[in-house]
Amino acid sequence: MKRLIEHLEFILTVDEDDWIIRDGAIVIANDRILDIGTTDEILERHERQSFDGIKDGKMRGMCPGFIDAHVHLSETLSRAVFPDHLNTRAWVFHWAKPFYAHITEEDEYWGALLGITEMLRCGTTCFLDMGSQYDPGITVRAMEKTGIRGITGRHAADNPPEVPPRGWDEDMMKHHFFNNAEEALKELEECVKKYNGALDGRVRCWVNIEGKEPCSLELHVGARKLADQLGVGTTYHLATSIEEAEVCSKKYGVWPITRIAQAGGLGHNLVIAHGAAVADEEISTLKSHDTKIAFCPSSSFKLGKGATSIGKYPELVQAGVTVGLGTDGVSAAGNMNLMRQMFLVAGMFKDARIQPDIFTVKQALRAATIEGAKALMWDDEIGSLEIGKKADFILFDLNHVEWTPFYDPVQALVFSASTSSVVETWVDGIPLYQNGKVNGVDEEQIKRKARELAAAAVKRAGLEASDVPTTTTLYDDGN
Ligand SMILES: [Zn+2]
Repeated sequence: MKRLIEHLEFILTVDEDDWIIRDGAIVIANDRILDIGTTDEILERHERQSFDGIKDGKMRGMCPGFIDAHVHLSETLSRAVFPDHLNTRAWVFHWAKPFYAHITEEDEYWGALLGITEMLRCGTTCFLDMGSQYDPGITVRAMEKTGIRGITGRHAADNPPEVPPRGWDEDMMKHHFFNNAEEALKELEECVKKYNGALDGRVRCWVNIEGKEPCSLELHVGARKLADQLGVGTTYHLATSIEEAEVCSKKYGVWPITRIAQAGGLGHNLVIAHGAAVADEEISTLKSHDTKIAFCPSSSFKLGKGATSIGKYPELVQAGVTVGLGTDGVSAAGNMNLMRQMFLVAGMFKDARIQPDIFTVKQALRAATIEGAKALMWDDEIGSLEIGKKADFILFDLNHVEWTPFYDPVQALVFSASTSSVVETWVDGIPLYQNGKVNGVDEEQIKRKARELAAAAVKRAGLEASDVPTTTTLYDDGN
């Protein structure tokens, strides 16, 4: 099947030269890009009658599908549940953990469907998901229904706190924490063997662990080594807040990234989620190990992680470290909208440092596309629009006030447009979102189910109570 989209007002290829093609055309053969160029060039190279279908791209703009480098699909029912005035550690241990301990497999499934629906409506075509607390197959089923591409796993931990998080019973502790790193890794290996490469390769499964205090050093190091052996990657939370760095420093004398580096845990197949607390000398450590960072601006804004005050994201990019953009879970970030992350990252550092030439719109777009693809070790197939790559892209309606006019399409995309002008989202040469709806799912049913299940989970977790703590000393000392 060979299809043509012609006369696109622009195509942002996000290839090495950040090429902007005006009056662009793209030829799609099944799931891949067969050719790309100006409409004139394409029609010189291909007979018009050779196409099985021709689509008019007038008043449409195209860019690569966005790649979310850090998300929690299993947690999507927690939107707007926890207060927004807590520091990261109190937020995790007294609110997030009690909530997620009460999440069922059914909750995870509907949460994943809800999250993927939001992603496709926002132009996201691929993600790196922290994974299920049960089985990656739950997310895989939601991916099968919607057609999206992504990486998932089994969210593992092995280092329980001395006192259980608020609202946890013995069974929850057993379910959430493996007895030791060895047992956790055995289970993760089985997950990778079972799910990696599923759904015609649209699904990849990694050795994902929660990271930081709930995981032993052995599990951090072991996860990356196992990932190496299995030819996949690993991702975990690390250096997510200044409090975590200070606790780590008090206990071990070094900040979190240095601690992992000294234990031989860094490598090219590791994506560190957040990386907010990074010391100057740790920038070259990350670079020399080719370890990637998934920066989550919305999460930093909502939880006050200090991206603009202590974060080294512009320095990391300048040093050549791969920095992708993530949304994080909706509880931490509020949304799964990468256009919003681009908008934030393209302004927050300019403003904080009174320096308009850092993290420009082009860098923001690259972070949301090709840099994310590199972090996910998938840049040979996705992240830019080039011959031979997968036909994963977004179409924008340029006859929209937000796009009027669009002299510099990248500026218009990052600073003017919202997701309301996303009209189509394609993965593998198939439109998954078009005509105002996500194909393959009943969006009304998903929203109804999500509201019901979320309300029940809040109740089970006891988060309606007024005495839920807003500070924590969990993991401060002892283990
Ligand atoms: Zn996260």
